[in-house]
Amino acid sequence: YSITMKEMEVLEVLGSGQYGTVRRVYHRPTCVPMALKEIRLELNQQALRQIIMELDVLHKARSPYIVDFYGAFFIESCVYYCMEFMEYGSLDRLYPAGIPEDILGKITLSTVKGLRFLKDELNVIHRDVKPTNILVNKRGEVKLCDFGVSGQLNQSLAKTHVGCQSYMAPERIFDAEDGLQGYTIQSDVWSLGLTIIEVATGRYPYDTSTSVFEQLNAIVHGEPPKLPESRYSPRACDFVARCLTKLASVRPVYPELLEHPWMVEAEEKDVDMEDWAARSYNLYLARGGNRLVAPLVDY
Ligand code: ADP
Repeated sequence: YSITMKEMEVLEVLGSGQYGTVRRVYHRPTCVPMALKEIRLELNQQALRQIIMELDVLHKARSPYIVDFYGAFFIESCVYYCMEFMEYGSLDRLYPAGIPEDILGKITLSTVKGLRFLKDELNVIHRDVKPTNILVNKRGEVKLCDFGVSGQLNQSLAKTHVGCQSYMAPERIFDAEDGLQGYTIQSDVWSLGLTIIEVATGRYPYDTSTSVFEQLNAIVHGEPPKLPESRYSPRACDFVARCLTKLASVRPVYPELLEHPWMVEAEEKDVDMEDWAARSYNLYLARGGNRLVAPLVDY
């Protein structure tokens, strides 16, 4: 069974990023609300067909830490990707008030488990860990989306955006200069570290008032950013410092990160994520944010 555009009732735009637009849709045959991402690509039919084939492995990728995949198809030069609808959208909408440590711990734990799942079950490196790719639903669950399962899609997207990716690990910046393709698990761990700081403090940790060149220079040659020690425990600060180890070869990977005392603590704690998510989403709306779902309609 494969999903088609004809079965969709297309609703409002949820957001748009570098590659395309995400819309809320209602899948009539199954009565499931979904998010439909449109990615515009300059590719021939064969390449588009290959992307759809490569995305097919996602049908086997079921994890509580990964946004569910429902199917993909292409129309003309656009790839359409159907996924689980996450009511509260991405983390960047939910963090401006700053996030308490126990919430931050749970968000980090889910993200690390999602990344480990991708690696262990699909042998996939995410390649684009950042707050807009971590989504939250109305149950307060935190899940990853937008990971690099399709080699063909990764290649096409890499060509369309070069240089502006400031979640890149120091070694990635060198590799990009050399024209190498050496993405590793460790590069994702660096991006995770930056993401945690951004979510915790409400801002991207490098100075964005300077040029992209200076930002990349600071990533490669400067001291890595830190979690503010005045607001977060030594455990949390240590976890982030390890993720932001500049030398990739000594940067920890998932089994080690999951054994870190901060993650062990997060695993044991009982935290009301549903309540945090609802309150943060309401604050986002109060600031004039886009209402993702007009009234929360249950079909
Ligand atoms: P980006 O390049 O910023 O990740 P995307 O095109 O992937 O942009 O997504 C744009 C926005 O749409 C995201 O920032 C997020 O807020 C929203 N979005 C993406 N996927 C979903 C989803 N499955 N459910 C709800 N909102 C989503």
